[in-house]
Amino acid sequence: MNTLLENMHDGVREEGIRRAGEILRDGGLVAFPTETVYGLGADALDAEASGKIYRAKGRPSDNPLIVHIAEWDAIETITEDLPPQAKLLSDAFWPGPLTMVLKKSARVPYATTGGLDTVAVRMPSNEIALALIRAGGGYVAAPSANTSGRPSPTTAQHVLEDLGGAIDMIIDGGPVSIGLESTIVDLTEEIPVILRPGYISKEMLEKIVGEVRVDRGLLADDPSVRPKAPGMKYRHYAPKAPLFIVEGDRAHVREKINELTAAEYESGRLAGVVATDESFGVYMHAVVKSIGSRDQELTIAQHLYSILREFDLLEVSVIYSESFETPQMGPAIMNRLMKAAGHQVIRV
Ligand code: AMP
Ligand code: MG
Repeated sequence: MNTLLENMHDGVREEGIRRAGEILRDGGLVAFPTETVYGLGADALDAEASGKIYRAKGRPSDNPLIVHIAEWDAIETITEDLPPQAKLLSDAFWPGPLTMVLKKSARVPYATTGGLDTVAVRMPSNEIALALIRAGGGYVAAPSANTSGRPSPTTAQHVLEDLGGAIDMIIDGGPVSIGLESTIVDLTEEIPVILRPGYISKEMLEKIVGEVRVDRGLLADDPSVRPKAPGMKYRHYAPKAPLFIVEGDRAHVREKINELTAAEYESGRLAGVVATDESFGVYMHAVVKSIGSRDQELTIAQHLYSILREFDLLEVSVIYSESFETPQMGPAIMNRLMKAAGHQVIRV
């Protein structure tokens, strides 16, 4: 298949959006930028089109897709028994990086929800995404536009690497602004439950709807506790080289990482280090990359996935990463990093 590339670095281009909308309405696949990561879109109300997403990504069929909408009223078509918290959270955070899990209506095929009676819904804020959703009929199912098991794409180049030749079109809107997938909150229980941490923190949600819980499957080290979002049980984003997170007092972490990289170097191998702008200069005998600044946590989120992809292109034998318990996005950043590391942590 020939994958069309549409450049929209300077914003929405009507002609390209019209073409992309046609592809979606014909049951095809279009990758597009959102503020979180690039999404791989298909018509969410068309079971066959949704099915194509699973095939293109190599995604397990029990892993449901998020339905993207561009107007609040669209939620009536795809959900039932809408709880009052949905409107409150929508007023506070939509359009934006929040996904709500709600009871699905008969209009949403099980192919889109991975066989579940609930549907995940989000209204993104990216202008290109909103224009595409409108042009495509109003309901776009879209998981991250990566091959299953690879880091989520934060640039169109990442999408091309993974899915070039397998999908109809990629809209290039430049690098995304957040870099981690949306916060998912389940509103089908009496007390809302966070199923996946993201840019919108627990505290931000609680200011709007009161008590919010975190899914036990996210907190537990015990693998027998299954996360409620089916996608969270898979080990995502694993880089080729083994990844270890070094945790503890900042000075000790630096010392430990240098000790580990020196040992690697003496054995004739080269380690990789995930550092920050603040610590970049202190590491030796290693390929050192800065993920961003601790003073601007968004920069850390923005570069997490691209740094994992960059290390995959290098011949490093092992990767050591500092840990990033930042105030707002810390839980989201560490959730993704811990998964990439297969929960291998060195405590100092
Ligand atoms: P992605 O779009 O790649 O970020 O993946 C979507 C995420 O949303 C996966 O982790 C899914 O398991 C989760 N998800 C989608 N729909 C539902 C749902 N109805 N209930 C729980 N989790 C969901
Ligand atoms: Mg994904």
